[in-house]
Amino acid sequence: MTDRYAVIGNPVEHSRSPQIHAAFAKQTGQDLTYERILAPLDRFAATVDAFRATGGKGVNITVPFKMDAWRYATRHTDRAGNCGAVNTMKWDGCEIEGDNTDGIGLVRDIERNLGVGIAGKRILIVGAGGAARGVAGDLLREEPALLAITNRTEARAIEVAQAVNALGTMQVISADSLPDHQFEIVINATSASLSGELPRVPAACFARGALAYEMMYGKGMTPFLTLAAGAGARTADGLGMLVEQAAEAFHFWRGVRPDTAPVIAMLR
Ligand code: NDP
Repeated sequence: MTDRYAVIGNPVEHSRSPQIHAAFAKQTGQDLTYERILAPLDRFAATVDAFRATGGKGVNITVPFKMDAWRYATRHTDRAGNCGAVNTMKWDGCEIEGDNTDGIGLVRDIERNLGVGIAGKRILIVGAGGAARGVAGDLLREEPALLAITNRTEARAIEVAQAVNALGTMQVISADSLPDHQFEIVINATSASLSGELPRVPAACFARGALAYEMMYGKGMTPFLTLAAGAGARTADGLGMLVEQAAEAFHFWRGVRPDTAPVIAMLR
C-alpha cells in the first residue's frame, strides 16, 4: 500500500515540498505520495483529523499553523519540546508525535552547503514567528558567540528568548538600537519579503563579509537581500534550508536519509 503524506498550510499552493518528497521517494525507493492541503485558518485540527481518518501517515506544517501543530501533538521530540512550534508530525493511533526540523535544516544549509561555521559567530535573527522559534534552539546548540533576536512586535521576541532559555541566552535587541551592533550572520525569519517589504534592519548591522540569509525562497533579490548585498554581505535564500528540513522530516517518517545535494541542484 502506498503511504500518504501531506503539507498543510494557508496559503499552500506555492509549497515546493511535494516536488522535494517525490524526489526523495524516487531516490530512496520509498513507496509514498505527498500532497498539498489548504486548511481554513480556523480549522487546522479538523484538517489533520480528516487526513488521519483517511489513512494519512504524517504531515508537514507550514505558515501559519506551526504553533497550532505544537498544541495538536500529544508529545514532542526534544528539539520541538521547548520551542513551541512543530513543522512535522507522525502518529500511532491517538499518539501524535511533533518534531521541528527547521532548525537542523537551517544549520545544515549554513554550515554544510554554504560552508559558514556558526560556532563563535555573532548572529541576529530578525522575526519572532514560528520559523524563528523553530531555529533558535538549534542555533544555540552550535555555540555562537552571541544569538540575538529583533522583531517588529518586541514582546514576541521576548517570548522566543524565554522559550529557549534552558538552552542558552538569546539577547533581545530593539530595532532602534540595532545600528549599534554588528553581526556576522543575519537571518531574515520574517514573512516581510512575501509582500516585498523590508523589515527594520540597518545596513550598518552587517559585519564585513557577513552572511545575509533570507529564509524565504524563490523571490530572487528581496529588499532584505538587496540591502545586505549593498552593505557588502554574501547573500543566500532559504531553498537549501527547505530541502534540508524536508530530508530530516523524511528521516523522521521513513527512517531513511536522502541525499539533498541533487535535489537542491534540481530545484535551482
Ligand atoms: P509567522 O507568520 O509565524 O511570523 C511572521 C514574522 O514576520 C513575525 O515575526 C512578524 O512580525 C514578521 N513580519 C511580517 N511582516 C513583517 C513586516 N512587513 N515587517 C517586519 N516584520 C514582519 O511566519 P513564519 O515564522 O512561519 O515564517 C517566516 C518566513 O520564513 C516565511 O517567509 C516563510 O516562508 C519562511 N520559512 C522558510 C523556511 C525554509 O525552509 N526555507 C522554513 C520556515 C519558514 P510580528 O510579530 O510583528 O507580526
